Amino acid sequence: MTSAAELTAYKMFVNGEWVDAASHRSFDSLNPYTGRAWATIPDGQDEDVDRAIKAARAALDNPAWKGMAPAARGQLMRRFGDLLRDNAERLAGVDSRDNGKLIREMLGQAKALPGYYYYYAGLADKIMGETIPLDKTSVFNYTLREPVGVVGIITPWNSPLLILSFSLAAVLAAGNTVVIKPSEHASASTLEFAGLVKEAGFPPGVVNVVTGFGKTAGTALVSHPLVRKVVFTGGTEVGKVVGQQAAANVTPVLLELGGKSPNIVFNDAHVPNAVNGCIAGIFAAGGQTCLAGSRLFLHESIHDEFVERLVERVKSIRLGDPSKMESEMGPLSTMDQLRKVERFVEGALKDGATLLYGGRRPEDPALGQGWFFMPTIFDGVVNDSHLAQEEVFGPVLAVLTFREEEEVIALANRTRYGLAAGIWTNDIRRAHRVARDLEAGTVWINTYRALSYASPFGGYKQSGYGREMGLDALREFTQAKSVWVELADTVPDPVTIR
Ligand code: NAD
Repeated sequence: MTSAAELTAYKMFVNGEWVDAASHRSFDSLNPYTGRAWATIPDGQDEDVDRAIKAARAALDNPAWKGMAPAARGQLMRRFGDLLRDNAERLAGVDSRDNGKLIREMLGQAKALPGYYYYYAGLADKIMGETIPLDKTSVFNYTLREPVGVVGIITPWNSPLLILSFSLAAVLAAGNTVVIKPSEHASASTLEFAGLVKEAGFPPGVVNVVTGFGKTAGTALVSHPLVRKVVFTGGTEVGKVVGQQAAANVTPVLLELGGKSPNIVFNDAHVPNAVNGCIAGIFAAGGQTCLAGSRLFLHESIHDEFVERLVERVKSIRLGDPSKMESEMGPLSTMDQLRKVERFVEGALKDGATLLYGGRRPEDPALGQGWFFMPTIFDGVVNDSHLAQEEVFGPVLAVLTFREEEEVIALANRTRYGLAAGIWTNDIRRAHRVARDLEAGTVWINTYRALSYASPFGGYKQSGYGREMGLDALREFTQAKSVWVELADTVPDPVTIR
C-alpha cells in the first residue's frame, strides 16, 4: 500500500485559484502499471461545478477578456503554446503514469499540443462576419460572429490533453470561457495544464478545471443553464445521456463518441505498409483509441499472406513498463476495462471466431501487477457478430474477408458507428471511389491514425456530430448575429411585414 503522505495531492482550478472540493472529499488516482494509487484528486460535486461555471460566466463580461483585442488573444495563446512546448516531457510523464499509455505515445501527443494553440492563435483575429446583399435594397444587413459563452468540455482518460486541445484552442480563439471536467481515471495532466494557463496569464475564470465523477460533476456541468455549449468526448451510450441532459436547457452539444472503424486492404495494396498501418490502427495504443481500426477487411486473395505477416509482427510487440521508451504496448487503463476485454474474447470464441494470437493476459512475471492483455487477433469473424459490431477499446482485432469492392463498402458501412476508416490500395480511382462511399468522418488512404489541427474531425452516425479542428471548429464555438440597418428616411407601413 502507498501511504497517504507519498501521494501527490492535487487541487482543482477555479477562477484562477487552486481549491479543494467544497466537501473536502477526494479520490485516489491509480497507476495502471503498478495498480497502486499515486495521487489524490478533489471529488467535485454540484456546488464546485456551479462555482466554476459562475466564474466562467463572470469572466465573459470581464473587460480583461471581453475587451481584449483578438490579436492580443492570439498573442496570449501563443505564449501558452510556448509553455506547453517547454513542459511537454513533464505533461507526458504525468499522463503515462495516470492512464498507463506508452510514454512514446504520450510524448508524441504532448509535443503536438503547441501546434493547436499556434494555429488558432493565428485565427483569433480572423473571425469575421459578412455583409449580406439582401433582397430589401433599403436595408444594410451584416453579421457579427460572437462567442457562444460558457463552454463545458468533458474529456475521456485515453488522451486527456490532446482531446481537450481538439476543442479548447478554438474555444479560446473565439473568445469563449470554459469549464473542463477531465475523466476521473486521468485528471492529473489537466490540472498540470491548468498551472500553465495561470502562468501564461489568462484572466481568472477564462479556463476552469473541476475534477470528479461523470454521474456527479459531469451531470452538473451538462445540466447547468449557464453553459451554452457542451463538448463531450467519450462512449456512445454516455454521449446519448449527455445529449438528453443538455436538451433540457436547449444547450447544443458537440459529441465525439466511439467507433468500430474498418481498415480495408485490397489485393493491389503494398502488403508490408498495410500490415504496419493495421498494427498502428489497433495495437499502437493497446486499442484504447476511438480511432482503432478494429475491423480488418482483407481481400480473400491476400488473406493468408497478410495474416501470416501480421501475426509474425504482432508476436514481436514488446509489452512493458509504459514509462520506458522501448515498450511497444502498455497495460489497459483500468481493471474493469481488462475484464471487459476478456468478456469480448469469450464471446468471440463462442461465436465461432478463430483465435490466431493472444486472447489472454500475458504470463511474463516482469509485467508485475499491471493490467496487461496480449495483442489479440481473431480470424473468420462475421460482420454481424458482437466482436465486429461493438467497440472493445482494447487490443483485439477482428479479421474479415471480402471479394468485391461493393461488397466491402456495404460490410464496412454496416455498423452504427462512423468515426474513421482506412483504405489500402494502389488504384487511385478505387481509392477515391471507396473514400467517397464510406460512411465515416475521417478516411485515410494508404495511412492510418493521422490527425492535424488544420483538418476537421468528427463522427458520422452514432460516432457523434459536430466538428473539432480546422476552420469548421470556429463555427462550432461562435454564433452569428444578424444586424439590420434601415437606410431609408421613412419607416414604411407598420402593418405589413417587411
Ligand atoms: P466515458 O464515456 O466513460 O467517460 C468520458 C467522460 O464522460 C469522463 O470524463 C466521465 O467522467 C464523463 N461522464 C461519464 N458519465 C457522464 C454523465 N452521465 N454525464 C456527464 N459526463 C459523464 O468514456 P471513457 O471510458 O473515458 O473513454 C472511452 C470512450 O471514449 C470510448 O468509447 C472512445 O471511443 C471514446 N472516445 C472518443 C473519441 C472521439 O474523438 N470520438 C476520442 C477518445 C475517446
